[in-house]
Amino acid sequence: MNSDGKSYQSNMTPELLMRLGEGLLNSGTMLALFAPDDTLQFATPDFVRLYDVQPGPQTFGSIMRHCHAWKTGPLIETDDMDAWLAMADGKRRSRALRKFEVDMVDGRWMYAIETTFDDNWVLLAVTDYTAVKHKEATLRTARDEAIVASETDHLTGLFNRGAAMKRFGAILDRAVQGNQVFSIVLLDLDHFKMINDHFGHDGGDQVLVHFSGCMRDVLRDRDVTGRVGGEEFLFVMPGASTDQAGAVVERLRAHLRDQRLKVGDVTLRYTFSAGIAEWTPGKTLQGLYKDADQALYAAKSAGRDQARNAV
Ligand code: GH3
Ligand code: MG
Ligand code: MG
Repeated sequence: MNSDGKSYQSNMTPELLMRLGEGLLNSGTMLALFAPDDTLQFATPDFVRLYDVQPGPQTFGSIMRHCHAWKTGPLIETDDMDAWLAMADGKRRSRALRKFEVDMVDGRWMYAIETTFDDNWVLLAVTDYTAVKHKEATLRTARDEAIVASETDHLTGLFNRGAAMKRFGAILDRAVQGNQVFSIVLLDLDHFKMINDHFGHDGGDQVLVHFSGCMRDVLRDRDVTGRVGGEEFLFVMPGASTDQAGAVVERLRAHLRDQRLKVGDVTLRYTFSAGIAEWTPGKTLQGLYKDADQALYAAKSAGRDQARNAV
């Protein structure tokens, strides 16, 4: 019985109404009741404190003007209080039920429910939900950090393979829509096994970190740089033709030639090979990657420390 909820309402008696009111007043919800002319008829002590309601007759407008002038209560960011109140009046009573957040000057957040009666009386019920907002902010920060961590190669700080390929796919989609040129470059460090053998795995890691730094020095912000394998890297360069990508690769080679990387007592030199492929309409992500990989293989076969374009 009473499963539809409505039968409870039809049970309403003056006693129930009184208990309902009393319970609401003790519920911790801050309440204010405004007459149709917006004069304040009733407010709980918490509401009076929250909005710093002054003694004597008050209206919604006079309360807000006071809060704005004394920088207390709700955060009202305006130089023109008349315009602000006109805007607020446009919203007040615009619906039977309005729910909104209120930022407070002291940094707290309130959740407000404005109920407009048929005869234009208004009940404002305000609860402090700062704790919920804090929890939400903490969760959002944790989520953002987790996303960054899941996309980052922890050794070099570059995008990992998954993240780099995702951005590669997005750049390809944009290129398909706008027929815009872009190129990719696959780079692989030469004789890295020997570097590991000579300098140990830690030494190899230092080289990987160093090389990543060099790539960052040379590339533009809009280029995507990822570590897609042990000592293999991918550039995705929006707007770049094969020639332009080749010029960047040669800048990187020149930059690397000027570097002196100290591993222990030894100054280490190392080189890389690269395969470059330019997107053409109809080319898939896998197809373009394969083109660059074959070009890289050709650069290795031709003696390393060089770049080759896809044929
Ligand atoms: P090539 O010039 O033909 O590329 O020769 P290479 O020795 O660089 O190529 P190969 O693929 O045979 O060796 C790659 C080496 O990279 C093997 C692996 O142990 C090493 N490696 C992979 N990941 C890491 C890493 O995270 N740190 C270090 N230090 N070494 C790694
Ligand atoms: Mg390799
Ligand atoms: Mg290698």
